[in-house]
Amino acid sequence: MTQAVVIDKTEDQQTVALRDITTADLPEGDVLVDVAWSTLNYKDALAITGAGPVVRSFPMVPGIDFAGVVRESSHPDFTAGDKVVLNGWGVGEKHWGGLAGQARVSGDWLIPLPAGMTARQAMVIGTAGYTAMLCVLALEAHGVTPDSGEIVVTGAAGGVGSVATMLLAARGYNVAAVTGRASEEAYLRDLGATSIIDRAELSGKPRPLAKERWAGAVDVAGSTVLANVLAGMKYGGVVAACGLAAGMDLPTSVAPFILRGVTLAGVDSVMAPKAKRIAAYDRLVSDLDLSRLEVIATEASLDKVVDIAPKFLSGEVRGRMVVPVN
Ligand code: NDP
Repeated sequence: MTQAVVIDKTEDQQTVALRDITTADLPEGDVLVDVAWSTLNYKDALAITGAGPVVRSFPMVPGIDFAGVVRESSHPDFTAGDKVVLNGWGVGEKHWGGLAGQARVSGDWLIPLPAGMTARQAMVIGTAGYTAMLCVLALEAHGVTPDSGEIVVTGAAGGVGSVATMLLAARGYNVAAVTGRASEEAYLRDLGATSIIDRAELSGKPRPLAKERWAGAVDVAGSTVLANVLAGMKYGGVVAACGLAAGMDLPTSVAPFILRGVTLAGVDSVMAPKAKRIAAYDRLVSDLDLSRLEVIATEASLDKVVDIAPKFLSGEVRGRMVVPVN
């Protein structure tokens, strides 16, 4: 017997509660994991509150990521006792996820916990931080270097934004952190931001082109924020777009692409192939000062996640929220 956050749906109403479940209740998979740590990401908040169409079947255990220890495995890559990490693959959306004492998943979705990283650290980074790394890798793949110029990070005080700011600063980039929370300026400067931009400045009606400011961008916002970021890119700039915190739309024009050669690089963490994940985690281990991760971490127990989830949607959560499970 273990506990799980369970989302259920009757005809028109979604319910969420902490429930007792048994191993027999878990979905099919060739690896059974004792979950040690899970987290709350923006997507988990959408699932738990029902604010976005994240959950594909009910009942569902949310939790798009977890770190834990293999209890049973018939997958060739894993044996009992192995420490593992999972991000995405539809877990917490269409397959029961990490906000539970145990998870049964496909071994193809797991990667080994990287050497030098604890399970808690892996979850402080979480899917948000691993996505931030994918965004930085996308900028690099398109030729951006610290000499190219300043990088703008939107939603900087959130999960993806906090880790992106830390990663870029560690590599020697000047980082312009966009935030809607002026009160987080000291926090963002502590992470390595070299300048702070009020989100309101990037929330107005976008013009096709604006003054050339940034060589690169990590955008978690989408919508008018992303449109304004695109308009403010320098010639040849690269924008890694991964989120929709401001909205799913993109009210822009082709001007940044055809007149300034700007690249819009889409970043998806959910279906990223295993080799890309392992490369991203290797870089997270080498680039991040793991001893400083606690600066971005807060903790919520399993019985509190339902109450806390709405705070993600109102942009009140700073950094990353980890959930101790076992
Ligand atoms: P968080 O809730 O931790 O952070 C989001 C941040 O966005 C907030 O803290 C806030 O930062 C900012 N924000 C909130 N509302 C708005 C708004 N209306 N306009 C502009 N900025 C806003 O979420 P995560 O960091 O976990 O995720 C960020 C986004 O990235 C989400 O949309 C998520 O779905 C997406 N994502 C995508 C992934 C992928 O694979 N493509 C993987 C992981 C996340 P501040 O207060 O500093 O302005």
